[in-house]
Amino acid sequence: MSSFPKSTVLGYPRIGPRRELKRALESYWGGRSPRVELDRVGAELRALTWRRLAELGLEGLPSNTFSLYDQVLDTAVLLGAVPARYRDAEDPYFAMARGTEGLAPLRMTKWFDTNYHYIVPEIGPDTVFKLDASKPLGEVREARGLGHETRPVVVGPVTFLLLGSALDRLGDVLGCYEELLTALAAEGVAWVQFDEPALVGDRTPEELAAVRTAYERLGAVSGRPSLFVASYFGDLGESLPVLAGTPVEAIGIDLVRGSAPVADLTGKTVVAGVVSGRDVWRTSPGRALAALGAVRASRVVVSTSCSLLHVPYTIDDEPSLEPALRGRLAFAEEKVAEVVALAGADFRGSVPAGPSVALPGPVTFDERGPYEVRAAAQAAHLRLPALPTTTIGSFPQTGELRAARAAVASGALSQTGYERRVEEEIERVIRVQERLGLDVLVHGEPERNDMVQYFAEHLDGFAVTRNGWVQSYGSRCTRPPILHGDVSRPEPITVRWATYAQSLTDKPVKGMLTGPVTIVAWSFVRDDLPLRDVVFQVAAAVREEVRDLESAGVSIIQVDEPALRELLPLRRAAQADYLEWAVAAYRRATSGAADRTQIHTHLCYSDADQILAAIDGLDADVTTIESARSGARILSEVSSFGRGLGPGVYDIHSPRVPGAAEVEGLLRRTVGVLPVERVWVNPDCGLKTRTYEEVEASLANVVEATRRVRAEL
Ligand code: GLN
Ligand code: ZN
Repeated sequence: MSSFPKSTVLGYPRIGPRRELKRALESYWGGRSPRVELDRVGAELRALTWRRLAELGLEGLPSNTFSLYDQVLDTAVLLGAVPARYRDAEDPYFAMARGTEGLAPLRMTKWFDTNYHYIVPEIGPDTVFKLDASKPLGEVREARGLGHETRPVVVGPVTFLLLGSALDRLGDVLGCYEELLTALAAEGVAWVQFDEPALVGDRTPEELAAVRTAYERLGAVSGRPSLFVASYFGDLGESLPVLAGTPVEAIGIDLVRGSAPVADLTGKTVVAGVVSGRDVWRTSPGRALAALGAVRASRVVVSTSCSLLHVPYTIDDEPSLEPALRGRLAFAEEKVAEVVALAGADFRGSVPAGPSVALPGPVTFDERGPYEVRAAAQAAHLRLPALPTTTIGSFPQTGELRAARAAVASGALSQTGYERRVEEEIERVIRVQERLGLDVLVHGEPERNDMVQYFAEHLDGFAVTRNGWVQSYGSRCTRPPILHGDVSRPEPITVRWATYAQSLTDKPVKGMLTGPVTIVAWSFVRDDLPLRDVVFQVAAAVREEVRDLESAGVSIIQVDEPALRELLPLRRAAQADYLEWAVAAYRRATSGAADRTQIHTHLCYSDADQILAAIDGLDADVTTIESARSGARILSEVSSFGRGLGPGVYDIHSPRVPGAAEVEGLLRRTVGVLPVERVWVNPDCGLKTRTYEEVEASLANVVEATRRVRAEL
């Protein structure tokens, strides 16, 4: 058996330093370039990654970390888990990922507690697993052709099946993994990495037994490569002794999110994740060396805490960041250099640093009156009809607006010129809504590139990057702002646009803010303060904005919190504490509003079960939530809130225009479950990604459906 290389990373970004893959994908999807061109770009990006990692001195190079869309989808294809309805599609892979004529895509959801989205494997009782190892084998050969020996990375059997809710198929799937090991051995592969992040969550005794079965069986494959099981995003907890009891040669442990295992792992190699793959900060050598020194195992090698997929390529591409901040940052390339440097240090016998404990301060927020008092004050002030109609905030982001923003950045358009463009767009949005007959209007958010970045650009304590793209899903990338210092609001941010919009109409215009949890969840956050304290700093800034909007005469203010569930800790034991402070932060942000000011909130998802009590705890006067796709279930779940509710009646995620009769049906279903005086009528999310044509037609039907239902009240 060859020993594990001294330094490695669990994975690497693949979208390309200049988002080359994004462009190649979109060009291929749009029919503007042939498949060979896409494959050429893919091969170039893989070669670039291996070359760069080797140049930086990394010894253990991974392969099969590239993907044209998603590594979980790649694993489904590897195992033959392609649902029959996609098999005849022109391109089954992209049909599963994105859908095709008359065929909806597979479901997509967030990868653990990250902002990366994977394609959920669809596994039924009749799924026939059959190995197709061409991709991992192809990448091993391709790398070898370039002079690199690599360690293929594949999602492990337990995590794959748990993601597909099909752990009962373990026996069948293991047959494929056994064959894969044999095929990789025949190719001369020394090590293979199986990613098992699901093992850092709470696992039942049956699931732990599945872990044992899986790795005992794979360990028994004769002549196989050495097995490295990688865990990340937290502590292995009760999974560690189980895994340690199987024949796997190496175990990957996240020492950034988790702590050094108490267990003695003599006989195993520990791949110690001491360089964070989830943030953009330089690693403290002292802390990393101490963490490495605390591991008791036959061999300890240095790695990242998880794949570097979640960070941008390099700070070399950010010349305009302030030097003092740059000095604190490490993106993927810089993190690889840290891994290499740590692997060269002697860390045996380093003394672990004591845990730093932060004590939470007191929380106060109950300045607003009880809901009944607020509701009466709001009704008298706003005088809205029954079943008020509204939207979630954004209207279509037109190409002209994006071009105008680019023109300001390049100096081709003046700031005043740009602001005039934004005002024109606001006027257009107001007129459209008046024409449609909506009751509560929005300004449409044309000044925002993104609901988090916009606020980050206007708050102190944040920096934004130019090329710091991180893959969100498929070709979609985000550029998370960097929250590096104490957050404060130098001046009002949205008041100017909100008051301009209100000046154009007699109808109430809703002010539109992003909540503190979401701003933090979609940023890279400083790690020298507890997350809770950072969220409270942002909450204080949002609170000032709420007060200023109110003073400027805005009587409805929406504070969106779509990421509330995203930061939920993976382990149940830690969830209650998180939810308590997250809700407290939201209330800190909103409770400065007077009783007669109506606070709305918006959340995007339907499977809110886990956090329903927390959503209720936000105490918003009106909660809008997705339900167009999820049906009646959510209605009964939220009916206990006892405040205003706007279950979406128009699914904005599809270009389809719902007919008035269809919306009417959804609305009747809603008023059948919820008291009519609490129901709001709205789409289920912002309209940013739709066209004006779709939006106007759909909203006209929403208004018409509401009119019909109202007529019978
Ligand atoms: N107000 C935001 C919008 O309409 C909400 C976006 C979201 O829910 N993610 O775009
Ligand atoms: Zn939404």
